[in-house]
This record gives sequence, C-alpha cells and structure tokens, in this order.
Amino acid sequence: MFFGGWVAKMVATAVYTVLFIAYLKYFDDEKKWVTNRPFKDVFQVLTYRERYHDLLEASTRDHLTGTLHRRQYDENAPKILESSLKNKRPLSLLVIDIDHFKQVNDRHGHQMGDKVLTTISQLLTENLRSDDHLYRFGGEEFVLLCEKMPTEAATSMADRLRKTIERFSVVYLPEKVTVSIGISSAPDDGATIEDLFRAADARLYQAKNEGRNRVVAPQAAG
Ligand code: GH3
Ligand code: MG
Ligand code: MG
Repeated sequence: MFFGGWVAKMVATAVYTVLFIAYLKYFDDEKKWVTNRPFKDVFQVLTYRERYHDLLEASTRDHLTGTLHRRQYDENAPKILESSLKNKRPLSLLVIDIDHFKQVNDRHGHQMGDKVLTTISQLLTENLRSDDHLYRFGGEEFVLLCEKMPTEAATSMADRLRKTIERFSVVYLPEKVTVSIGISSAPDDGATIEDLFRAADARLYQAKNEGRNRVVAPQAAG
C-alpha cells in the first residue's frame, strides 16, 4: 500500500519530466522567451510606480530651485484662498524678491547667480510649515502662501526669513544678498487671489523704494 503510492508518485514525476523535456525540445520556441531587454531592466520594471510618481512630482516643480511652478500657483492658489475664506481661516500671501539680483549675475556670473537662487529657495523651504506653499513666481521672485496665518504672524515670519537670508549670505555667499517682501492677507486685502497678489506686490514695490532689505506689511499690522 505504502510503496504503491510512493511508486505511483515517482512514475508520475518521471512521466511529467519526460513530457516537459519533449515539450521544450519539440514545441517550445526558445526565441520567444529570450528577450533583448538587458537584465537591469528588471529594476526598471519593479520601480515603475515610484518613477512614475517621481515624474509627476518633478512636473509640478521648478527644476532649478525645486519649488512649485508658477503653473501650480495659478491652479492651486485660488482653491487655497477659497477654502480659507469658506472656513473663516486667515491666509497671508508674501511676495519675496531678491534685491539687485542682476548685479549678482553681473559681478559673479550667471552660474553663481543660479547658486544664489537655489540657496535662497532652500533657506525659504527649510523654514516652511506644512500649511505654507512656496512658488517660484518669476526669475528671482517667489510667492509664499501661508494658510491659517494672520497678518501679524506673517509679518514676523517674513522678517525672520529676511534676516536668515541676509545672515546666511554674509557667511556663505560671495556677497551679501538680501530680499524685500510685500505681504497681504485675506480677507482684509480682498476676496480674490488677484486682489491679494496686487496688494502684496504694491507693498513689495514700496519696500524697494524705501531702500530694499525690508518687509512691508498691511498698515494695521505694520
Ligand atoms: P530689484 O532689487 O529692483 O529687484 O533689482 P533686480 O536686479 O533684482 O531686478 P531685475 O528685475 O532688474 O533683474 C532680475 C534679474 O534676475 C535679471 C535676470 O537676469 C535674473 N534672473 C532671472 N532668472 C534667473 C535665473 O534663473 N538665474 C539667474 N542666474 N539669473 C536670473
Ligand atoms: Mg529683484
Ligand atoms: Mg523681480
């Protein structure tokens, strides 16, 4: 009984082995399962999903500074404002512009200009909360949108950022680099993102006229 079962299994194994060898020899076309793709492609296939997400992430960010694109601002800023207004939460908008950046390029070259730009955006990024959104708005101009942040808090944050950049540049960059910042807040400065930007941009202009390296906030908080 016991040996009968064992023998039957051995016979079955032998039969299947013979059939399998016959199949490989006479019916299977080896060329079909040998591919031209290099073996390292296995890694590419296995990491497909992560690479896809990296690509999506990269498409939303500026390749030089790693901050969000202007396109992202156009798409998301109105929604962020709408949700803040709906939930009666304060929102502040900062327009941050590097002072005399053209001179940095002229004196130290475009490549050093790029380094200064990435360094400043890094300093800004390191000081963000999870409710802050940093966009590269133009060449050397950034917009920082701060959810749940009233004017007073935004003003002290802006001044902290300004001082951080100034101090850092004195030590690590080829010359002192400063920024000027204009601030606006919802709902006091308007109910559309265009209103907010216009108000902050006008205050940035004022900061430039008053000598640069300064923050101009809405009057009540200033
Ligand atoms: P202000 O204090 O009035 O803002 O003066 P500014 O020189 O910073 O402003 P302006 O608008 O005259 O010049 C901005 C300069 O920024 C000109 C442009 O060449 C430079 N710039 C813009 N984008 C980049 C960039 O990606 N890399 C480098 N290196 N320079 C850039
Ligand atoms: Mg500038
Ligand atoms: Mg500018």
